[in-house]
Amino acid sequence: MKRHRFYIINQIGLHQFILSPMLIILSIAIFLFSQTNLIPSSVHVSGYTRSNGTYVNSYNRRPPGSVEHDKPYQILNYISFGSFVLGIIWLVLLIREIHRSNHIDLFLKTIIWRSNYPTRPSFVPLPEFYKKARKDWYCSRCSSLIKIGMLYYHCEYSSKYIGNRYCNKCYEELKVLYKEYLIKLDEYYKECNFVANDRINQLSEAYRKKFKEELTSPENYISR
Ligand SMILES: [Zn+2]
Repeated sequence: MKRHRFYIINQIGLHQFILSPMLIILSIAIFLFSQTNLIPSSVHVSGYTRSNGTYVNSYNRRPPGSVEHDKPYQILNYISFGSFVLGIIWLVLLIREIHRSNHIDLFLKTIIWRSNYPTRPSFVPLPEFYKKARKDWYCSRCSSLIKIGMLYYHCEYSSKYIGNRYCNKCYEELKVLYKEYLIKLDEYYKECNFVANDRINQLSEAYRKKFKEELTSPENYISR
């Protein structure tokens, strides 16, 4: 079930795993940058005794060269705060989603499916193309001789069958087999769909029973 860990990441999107912490780090960086550049609007002066003996209480005063609002850095401060909050919310939602996916993952392992997928019918090559033999060759299927100058048949679409040469008799037989294969393939896909739908129903039902709520997009949890 190693595949499933990546499956969760795929479901949520790898970019989110990178972006949300990045947003938080970036907002902290912006905050620190603006904070070091921000001129404080007031400084604290602690109490002291004058030379004539009078005591001056502690007070706040504006530092020299200060302005009422240190605009660009103050705005940066607000932006960093906003993006920090956004990053935290994003991360919390992400963790919740991971938690939920893990939950469903564990739950899926407890389900024993009532229906199974059929086995895929084995591929039959259809040698659609023909050429004249440049020398004496043998049929890849029945080993009969294809004499120089005779027509032979070949495939061009499947790398597995490229290079195979078929005699006329095999070509005719393969045409029939190929037609049967297509029909079987069609049946196979129909059966797969049927099993998938059945599994979606089984999963939804089991989920409803266990968690007392509807599972959204159960089709995402069905392996086909
Ligand atoms: Zn042959």
